[in-house]
Amino acid sequence: MAEKTIFKRIIDGEIPAKIVYEDEHCLAFEDIKPAAPTHLIVIPKREIASVDDVKPEDEAVVGHLFTAIRAVAAKLGLTGGYRVVTNCGRDSGQEVMHLHFHVLAGRRLGWPPG
Ligand code: AMP
Repeated sequence: MAEKTIFKRIIDGEIPAKIVYEDEHCLAFEDIKPAAPTHLIVIPKREIASVDDVKPEDEAVVGHLFTAIRAVAAKLGLTGGYRVVTNCGRDSGQEVMHLHFHVLAGRRLGWPPG
């Protein structure tokens, strides 16, 4: 069996996280190394490694992540706007092989990203 990712361990309650939102299908928690005043990680509870691994049967779960992101943004009052980012694969710098969306807010964000 492949070793659990750090995010799967958070889902399973094996390591702590500052959880800001949870429902049947997903979890949102604070990034341990924030790159902005607000930096959340939003993940599906289903184990999907990356965008490259999304299958047709995952569509409902992946779509649901955006409903959750919107709910979290409203809950945290991110009225100034926010950025949603996902890294996929080596060149993007993806470190954790469990699909996740970064939600960044609280400062003016540069574009294009590095
Ligand atoms: P990525 O490079 O897109 O794979 O991003 C992984 C993100 O997960 C990074 O921003 C890390 O700071 C974050 N991270 C890693 N371990 C933890 C953890 N235990 N709790 C919260 N965030 C984490």
